[in-house]
Amino acid sequence: MTELERTHDRAPVPSDWSYAPAPESRDIVSLRERYGLFVGGEWLEPRSGESYTTISPATEEPLAEIAQAGEEDVALAVEAARGAYADGWSQLAPSERAKYLFRIARILQERAREFAVLESLNGGKPIRESRDVDLPLAAAHFFYYAGWADKLEYAFPNRRPQPLGVAGQIIPWNFPLMMLAWKIAPALAAGNTVVLKPAETTPLSALLFCDVVRQAELPPGVVNIVTGDGRTGAALVKHPGVDKIAFTGSTEVGKAIQREVAGTGKRLTLELGGKAANVIFDDAALDGAIEGIINGIYFNQGHVCCAGSRLLVQESIHEPLVAKLKRRLTTLRVGDPLDKNTDVGAINSQGQLDQIRELVETGTEEGAEMYQPPCRLPERGYWFAPTVFTNVAQSSRIATEEIFGPVLSVLTFRTPEEALEKANNTAYGLSAGVWTEKGSRILWMAQRLRAGVVWANTFNRFDPSSPFGGYKESGFGREGGLHGLEPYLRFE
Ligand code: NDP
Repeated sequence: MTELERTHDRAPVPSDWSYAPAPESRDIVSLRERYGLFVGGEWLEPRSGESYTTISPATEEPLAEIAQAGEEDVALAVEAARGAYADGWSQLAPSERAKYLFRIARILQERAREFAVLESLNGGKPIRESRDVDLPLAAAHFFYYAGWADKLEYAFPNRRPQPLGVAGQIIPWNFPLMMLAWKIAPALAAGNTVVLKPAETTPLSALLFCDVVRQAELPPGVVNIVTGDGRTGAALVKHPGVDKIAFTGSTEVGKAIQREVAGTGKRLTLELGGKAANVIFDDAALDGAIEGIINGIYFNQGHVCCAGSRLLVQESIHEPLVAKLKRRLTTLRVGDPLDKNTDVGAINSQGQLDQIRELVETGTEEGAEMYQPPCRLPERGYWFAPTVFTNVAQSSRIATEEIFGPVLSVLTFRTPEEALEKANNTAYGLSAGVWTEKGSRILWMAQRLRAGVVWANTFNRFDPSSPFGGYKESGFGREGGLHGLEPYLRFE
């Protein structure tokens, strides 16, 4: 036996290759016990007198008391936004507006770790994602729109762009800070002031953002944050002093909002649900495609409106692809969102978990085959194991309804025409993915897919310069890019 062999012989044989825990420290975040409403640059106690507790979905631990804004509170916020609009913000030199936006972007970068920890704590998403996706993209949105603030005349030549006034913005819980950035950055760049309502379950990063607003010395009233549940959103939509509503959330609420603003003259953009097809052709690089599928549906626990929740696989590669996919699933680490090695975090709320469970049950009842990798879920908090359904019928609920959880439905096709027909066979039209080595096939598919965004050989990629938005029941209007400025402008 050589010396090397002897050394190896003595070395302990590792039986478990899992990572040691690598939790991110929570110390960087200091939470207040209770938060008021951020109106006119001040913290106000809600006149409604109501509040609720926001929790960590991973542990169910209470984090802070949050104000439930009533109609009177919303009216105060709109008044503050109107005042700030009229008293200076709308007349400010555009290059000055840009300075504030650049400042906000830089502060977000400087405080990125604090925001990332808070986002994971309150929302349940893995710190790896809030650190590497949500925060960089939120800052990038402010940088991007800061650049446009003094170039609107060039962005829309000969159209004399003017701001609209007060924008009422309602955002969901899946990307709280990023959605805030998508809404606030273009609105301010265009010269509007805003009243924003974060989702009931994830208000904390929007409340920390108020600190950034103050630090950037943004004039009081330009950004107002009102917290609360759907009633607060509804009050904002109804308020006659609001000139534009920007909403991201469920198709159901989007439709109700559209009915409410009909005939009022308020401008409206809706970014709603999706049931995206991720189409894998038999000439695709399979290992790369597997990573794209994983990122497409398990990113942010599948709480993604553009998630690749319907996998369309060419029949000839169905078996090897599903085998590879199942193997890859066994390596996903589900657990503590603040652990840097976690891939899949907590489900955002009990309500969302119930909805996922109900739809998954119908999947089995309707005859689809379910696979979940062996994984031990924490006892407290809201958790759902990454799930794949095969043998899925096109008409089944898991193939047609938005599950908004870590659940993938696999269907097959034989020809590109069939793939296209199945991909477009949905009430939604937000996003789609195509995996093939042939550029001509990518273009052929992209031209025919009824989806606002089509990714080729990748999935869930975002860039502030690239417009994002839907067709059909996924809504209308675009966020990002020049297209994202237009809904906040009128043209003389
Ligand atoms: P909602 O559409 O209810 O929530 C989105 C935002 O709208 C939240 O801030 C919410 O407040 C607010 N809101 C609720 N009711 C009203 C109303 N009547 N008028 C104005 N604003 C309102 O989505 P949910 O959180 O209930 O999620 C339900 C389903 O919607 C999910 O399972 C998923 O399928 C889909 N969804 C899609 C999203 C997307 O990005 N496309 C994002 C989130 C959800 P509050 O949080 O207090 O309810």
